[in-house]
Amino acid sequence: MRLLETEIIIDAPPQTVWAVLDDIACYAEWNPALPALSGRTTVGQQVVGTLRQPNVPEREVTPTITRVVGARELRWLNQAPGGVFSAEHIFILEPTGDGGTRILHNEIFDGPLADERWPSIDTNLRKAYLDLNQALKARAEALRDRPIALHPAVGKVASGSVETFTARCKCASDPVEIEASHAVAHNHLCGCSKCWKPEGAAFAQLAVVPAGCVAVKAHAKKLEAVDATQKIERHRCKSCGTHMVGKVHDPDHHFYGLEFVHPELATDGHQPKIEFAAFVSSLVETGTPPTSMASVRNELGRARIPAYDAFSPELMDIIAWHKVKLATAAG
Ligand SMILES: [Zn+2]
Ligand SMILES: [Zn+2]
Repeated sequence: MRLLETEIIIDAPPQTVWAVLDDIACYAEWNPALPALSGRTTVGQQVVGTLRQPNVPEREVTPTITRVVGARELRWLNQAPGGVFSAEHIFILEPTGDGGTRILHNEIFDGPLADERWPSIDTNLRKAYLDLNQALKARAEALRDRPIALHPAVGKVASGSVETFTARCKCASDPVEIEASHAVAHNHLCGCSKCWKPEGAAFAQLAVVPAGCVAVKAHAKKLEAVDATQKIERHRCKSCGTHMVGKVHDPDHHFYGLEFVHPELATDGHQPKIEFAAFVSSLVETGTPPTSMASVRNELGRARIPAYDAFSPELMDIIAWHKVKLATAAG
């Protein structure tokens, strides 16, 4: 057995480094040693690619993925027929404790040909892997700093309690106008795929008012339900697509008795404080690359907006208690 060991410290969190390593379809953009690799990084799957190293002809590799521990470890195994040679390629990601990642990038060679090939592996392949490490570091560190447009309301000064507000859609003429006659609560950002997001923003912004406190003041005919099968029935302007109000019709739903509004549409520009960001991880499902998620969370942190991957703990506890109430009533 022969062991090729390399190591590098990357000033980016394991989550970001992992997102780069796990996205093998993008290796062509940065990886000098494996400039093409395709397939799925799932244990047992075979991936197909090209191995490139100094002084050795480029060759096809068809390793099988043998271990996937998200954000911690990735392994694959190349085996020559007849057991004459095997190579187990290992990436281990260790959090450094100060927000970085130590990569142990190793390969274990076995079989009768391992000794014969070792001099070339020890020089040429080692060089290829050291170059790969540097390229991985450069890519992950560049992604760590990529700016993210969270939402236009982030960073605006909150104007205390907003007691009532008028909101208009984005139509230049005949805008839909609603009036909320009650102070909003639970003003938050939402990363889910259903809530309406302004152009270029990663998040939507929503708050709730008691049901019955939202009146449509102008051009009600332009409003339509986005998807009447959803538990929260969102209503948008047919012309410009802006969501104006979300209603809950099911008396058993945990948000029954509330309506959802978008404080950013307030015509007087007043903004309530953003209390939290909900469904942050859902951004990945709607097109934000996993490599950007550390930036998203860092920016939320800088804006002092707690990030949650469902609702806030406060609301999650209320929802959980609501389920218990329903179950008790049913029993
Ligand atoms: Zn409109
Ligand atoms: Zn949402």
